[in-house]
Amino acid sequence: MHQKNLTELRTALDTKQISALELAQYFLRRIENEHELNAFLDINPQLTLDAAKAAEQKIARGEKGPLLGLPVAHKDLFVTRGWKSSAGSRILANYVSPFDATVVKRLSSAGMVTLGKTNMDEFAMGSSNENSFFGPVHNPWDRNAVPGGSSGGSAAAVAAALVPVATGTDTGGSIRQPASLTGITGIKPTYGRVSRYGIIAFASSLDQGGLMARWAADCALVLNTISGFDPRDSTSVKRDAEDYTRYLSKPWQDTAPRTDDRPLTGLRIGLPREYFGAGLSGDVRAAIDAALQKYEELGAILVNISLPQTELSIPVYYIISSAEASSNLSRFDGVRYGYRATEYRDLLDMYKKTRSEGFGAEVKRRILVGTYVLSHGYYDSYYLQAQKIRRMIAQDFQNAFTQCDMIMGPVSPSVAWNLGEKINNPLQMYLADIYTLSTSLAGLPGMSVPCGFGTGAHAARPVGLQIISNYFNEARMLQVADAFQRVTDWCQKAPIGV
Ligand code: GLN
Repeated sequence: MHQKNLTELRTALDTKQISALELAQYFLRRIENEHELNAFLDINPQLTLDAAKAAEQKIARGEKGPLLGLPVAHKDLFVTRGWKSSAGSRILANYVSPFDATVVKRLSSAGMVTLGKTNMDEFAMGSSNENSFFGPVHNPWDRNAVPGGSSGGSAAAVAAALVPVATGTDTGGSIRQPASLTGITGIKPTYGRVSRYGIIAFASSLDQGGLMARWAADCALVLNTISGFDPRDSTSVKRDAEDYTRYLSKPWQDTAPRTDDRPLTGLRIGLPREYFGAGLSGDVRAAIDAALQKYEELGAILVNISLPQTELSIPVYYIISSAEASSNLSRFDGVRYGYRATEYRDLLDMYKKTRSEGFGAEVKRRILVGTYVLSHGYYDSYYLQAQKIRRMIAQDFQNAFTQCDMIMGPVSPSVAWNLGEKINNPLQMYLADIYTLSTSLAGLPGMSVPCGFGTGAHAARPVGLQIISNYFNEARMLQVADAFQRVTDWCQKAPIGV
């Protein structure tokens, strides 16, 4: 049952092979048996089974819906009524929101059954999930390895088939990078396509909700429900709903015969020179090259492009995201939410102790950097400068998209590294985001698609291919990912024992 995709699970429910309640119980058992992965922060069988029963009753009444009765898990950055929403932080440990995030609400209204809340780097700051107050998540492919971050819990849960699909958020790569490191599919839609309402804010101009599942087709199906305008999010884009599955299994050019064994004929894939430079490890490069060859076999044409500001995306991202984080996180003061220090002299001392005790080291580092770059005298030379380069980065992509339809490259310069390996070296950790940050800064949609494994001691560690498309072109990007998944078996592979 856990190997099935969402369409197969739908059939299993529709043909009464299994009930929604049994399906929820089945996955809850799997989660319990895999608790040492540490992928989940809150499990609440009562809430899950209640939702499953409600879905079952709807099915019995003859109600229909593509997602009705199917299980889902939510990254702990999404607030959920009834469940804890900690954002991986001590300062919000045990916090229970009085409302649901829009994404959560839409999926629940569609009848999806929440299995739990997934572990993550504190406030989504990190690339390895080691910044969680609740301990790291293990990579199901190799338990000594990190699962990536910050959506590491969602990634590990999907890779270990504890849930067929999970939500994630991506501010600078947090859906794509953990998807890559755990061998699953992840999609970060165009900024503004998915409501941020109820996503605990990290960097508001970058944060975007998205999905992680084993197959692109599953991501497409669920994206239909979570995307769309939300008046509660001022940066939500007013655009009609669309069916993200509409191009799946269709040829790239509408005029091509449907039986063509080169369905992607006419697709131009841009390969940014800067994504294939010295920092890219050999095993990742080999897997990406093999995937690109596959795309050529499917009819695509490879073109060389350049994204000249790629290197600057790291300083620009860490200035802008930290600036926004320092402002967003000022609300955690021991008065309004969550944790409060137990002993303090006066109000100021209460703020200080609460924040010193409540936030972890990486979050404090970002607040310090953010406060610094926004301070009088430094604003112009750091923050303003970063904003200007951000615009140039976005322009680079627009220039590239005059020469190609999709951009491809690696997601991460290496396969998953060992737990503990980079934790004391934040700069090295930041470098791991080099291929994902500029997409976020430009607000473009991006995906990670499993395309192979490392070599030698890393032979069990997955590699992800990144696909980047122009704004609001998710349906085409999903088509390109899905076409690859139909002719390769990377998505069918599972970690030992799964
Ligand atoms: N790893 C990046 C960071 O630490 C990206 C995180 C994210 O996308 N939420 O900020």
